[in-house]
Amino acid sequence: MKKSAKSYTRSFLLWEIFVGLKLTLRYFFGEKITIQFPEEKTPLSPRFRGLHALRRYPNGEERCIACKLCEAVCPALAITIESEPREDGSRRTTRYDIDLFKCIYCGFCEESCPVDSIVETSLSHYHFEARGENIMTKPMLLAIGDRYENNIAKEKLADAPYR
Ligand code: SF4
Ligand code: SF4
Repeated sequence: MKKSAKSYTRSFLLWEIFVGLKLTLRYFFGEKITIQFPEEKTPLSPRFRGLHALRRYPNGEERCIACKLCEAVCPALAITIESEPREDGSRRTTRYDIDLFKCIYCGFCEESCPVDSIVETSLSHYHFEARGENIMTKPMLLAIGDRYENNIAKEKLADAPYR
């Protein structure tokens, strides 16, 4: 009887509405957790692994020596490499494809590369618009490396992400 009187009084005073409004006001004046993407970005973990790139040496020569260690270590079988010897006897890839649909961004390819050629950048904002764009070819990977080389080199030194 006592309980129902209390319940009746509460419902008469719209108690639940005030409890709900209290929660609303707490979040209204509290610290906002929503960010205004893309103007604002959330911090990236130093361990984040994003889009791949192939790097060159400062003289423009590509680093990759077609040893195929990355292809062998890739647990997702996402890397396809074909290679040929050049006229000067050095071996270079004629094809270097990464299937981003297969890739699980484990970083094993980067870890295994003896010449710091294949790297995973901190680039996370990319998309595909047509069938087949998930295959990153050698020219595409080299172009990313060329464009972001300064940042990649800094990241390699500092072990910190860039955006
Ligand atoms: S990040 Fe992992 S899964 Fe992706 S290509 Fe490299 S080794 Fe393969
Ligand atoms: S990217 Fe590195 S590990 Fe892969 S084939 Fe080239 S040199 Fe070898």
